[in-house]
Amino acid sequence: MNIAIDGPSGAGKSSLAKGLAKYFGMIYVDTGALYRAVGLYAKRKGIPVDDVTPVEADLDTLRVGLCYKDREQHVLLFDEDVTALIRTPEISMYASAVSARPAVRAFLLETQRRMAREHSVVMDGRDIGTVILPQAEVKIFLIASDLVRAKRRKAELESKGICATVEEVLADMQKRDRNDRERETAPAVPAADAILLDNSDLTEAETIEAAIAVVKEKMKI
Ligand code: C5P
Repeated sequence: MNIAIDGPSGAGKSSLAKGLAKYFGMIYVDTGALYRAVGLYAKRKGIPVDDVTPVEADLDTLRVGLCYKDREQHVLLFDEDVTALIRTPEISMYASAVSARPAVRAFLLETQRRMAREHSVVMDGRDIGTVILPQAEVKIFLIASDLVRAKRRKAELESKGICATVEEVLADMQKRDRNDRERETAPAVPAADAILLDNSDLTEAETIEAAIAVVKEKMKI
């Protein structure tokens, strides 16, 4: 069984996906981390965030991969574990920029599909239900109000020692969401057969509970 979780940033996709993976004994795959690793590569190469086209010339030699330690996902850029380096606001913007390049999406496609072929996965991203795993048994599109998402993202950044105001986080988030929703390749929109789940007024535990009910209903388990 594969479960696709899509939705805008800060909606709580990763907490939900982790919760479902734990409950159903599946592997959690955070696909945003792959785009973030490519973004980190672009930044290190000195490629400007407002025109990341030059990154395409390096895709033949670039290596980005996932591995698991104690069930936690780690992202590798070549052989370097960059997991702890990719959560900054700057890398978020780089990830958003590189993710709009069709060649980058094509480059990361097989890594994602292979994970789903080899394991039962709960995969979160923007185009999992529409492009990466259109045959996923369960698809959830998770949404929450802008303000709720910005507050959650601010708290997440603070837990990593990064300070920002709600207004700053909100502006960054809205810019990224617009890029993701309006890009030509794999826009972040719900699949026709996705279940829309709004968790603005739900706690993390309640969101997981609601999604477990969706999965059980879909799978008749
Ligand atoms: O999910 P996360 O915020 O880590 O993703 C970072 C960026 O990577 C997103 O803003 C989006 O532009 C891109 N992304 C994507 N498709 C995915 C996952 C992430 O375009 N499946």
